[in-house]
Amino acid sequence: MKFTFVTLFKNLVDGYFSDSILSRAIEKDILTIEYINPRDYSNNKHCKVDDTAVGGGAGMVMNPQPLYDCLDDLKKQDENVHIIFLTPVAKSFTQNDAKRLAKKSHIAFVSGRYEGIDERVVEEYSDEVFSIGDYILTGGELPSLVMCDAISRNVNEVLGNSDSLSIESFESELLEAPSFSKPQKYRNNSVPKEYLKGNHSKIRSLKLALSECKTKFFRPDQLIKHKNQSY
Ligand code: SAM
Repeated sequence: MKFTFVTLFKNLVDGYFSDSILSRAIEKDILTIEYINPRDYSNNKHCKVDDTAVGGGAGMVMNPQPLYDCLDDLKKQDENVHIIFLTPVAKSFTQNDAKRLAKKSHIAFVSGRYEGIDERVVEEYSDEVFSIGDYILTGGELPSLVMCDAISRNVNEVLGNSDSLSIESFESELLEAPSFSKPQKYRNNSVPKEYLKGNHSKIRSLKLALSECKTKFFRPDQLIKHKNQSY
């Protein structure tokens, strides 16, 4: 699967792929990463990519011309590219989106900077728009990386053990039960003794109860969905 990052700041993104799971997936050619800098497409003699907002308002807005030209080029290279704009003015990205998008062959993330992107570009080129939460970041690079990471985990063979996907939080309405590693006792704190007795049906019931407790405390909205589904 291929990811293209359309960004003015490639260096903010590419360090993330230099280590760990995604770096191994790139080495094995399961994932391909490329970058496009809209500045390289600017017709302005100083390679400007932003200007003041028409109609007034604080801050600068990214101009249409460099983005129109670079996205035209991208679509010419691959007509199947799925173009996603990152913006706070959008639905929130979820695990279901990550799983759905993992089936695409090529996704391009367009990162805004300054006060955002001229709306005509978004209207013309977006297949989808996503927010990663109700807060404002300085640019779309982190949201693009968040989405790329979550999507990549769902691409075949990216994770060493694909079983880990099926038990994670958000695979069902309940959050994952707490996990423990060795040693069984550390600084006076023991793991729950039921985890140690090898009775798998009891372990499953305890994990379900703990899962429900965590969900009730942290995400009561999810627990309500779970209960509605169970009846
Ligand atoms: N003026 C915009 C607003 O109030 O909606 C915020 C612009 S923000 C400073 C600059 C860029 O960061 C945006 O164009 C977008 O690409 C990215 N961004 C910031 N927060 C984001 C979020 N929560 N989710 C996705 N992208 C975000």
